Amino acid sequence: MRINVHAGHNADGKLACGTIGFIRESTEARRVKDAVVGQLRKLGHTVYDCTVDDAPGERSNLDQIVAKCNAHDVDLDVSIHFNSGARDSVGDGKTTGTETYVYNSSSKARSYAEKVCQSIATLGFRNRGVKYSTGFRVLRTTKSPAMLVECCFVDDKDDVQLYDCQAMAEAIVYGITGQRVVMEAEPDADKELVAPGEETADGDMRQLYRVQVGAYAVKGNADATLAKLKAAGFDAIIVKA
Ligand SMILES: [Zn+2]
Repeated sequence: MRINVHAGHNADGKLACGTIGFIRESTEARRVKDAVVGQLRKLGHTVYDCTVDDAPGERSNLDQIVAKCNAHDVDLDVSIHFNSGARDSVGDGKTTGTETYVYNSSSKARSYAEKVCQSIATLGFRNRGVKYSTGFRVLRTTKSPAMLVECCFVDDKDDVQLYDCQAMAEAIVYGITGQRVVMEAEPDADKELVAPGEETADGDMRQLYRVQVGAYAVKGNADATLAKLKAAGFDAIIVKA
């Protein structure tokens, strides 16, 4: 696929940066954007980074983003944001969750937006679904099908605890492409089955049996699986192989 990706707003510390809660929207949107761009390229897709870091204001930030987007013929424009307004600073045990926007119900980006929501929801975020808005300039004035992703809420403690930028990026990439970056297989996985120094008296090595649910090259993906297991009531740990 050919895809435009940008992080919303100017960079933090500039005028017209994004919302701030436990985490900063502009900073996290750029981290997720960088990971999405990297993963898409690894999968062989053509990606243009249309992020604008230092426009003189909100309006010109959007103008410059749209100009960058419209300089390329792509299958999809992806705008990455974080939401606010949950006001859950204590943590009520529930995420406020994820949502995506497209221009209207006949947008060609709609099916991508639905899949991205579903994919992010598998990380444990509540699926707020696809919403329609003719108000966003990046949806209204880009020439290719466009979607805006509100990854999760910066001001909900539960969202922020669950959030991991690599896992979020992987979910977005999977929602768009149906593909994941293939993690390298563990060639020496067997070696880990025997702990060092655990030889028994008669010289036999003690056998350990591990229950494994995944092996990840990216620590954030391991953290995300760990969080899911713990949420499901399993006492799990991460070991380095
Ligand atoms: Zn935003």
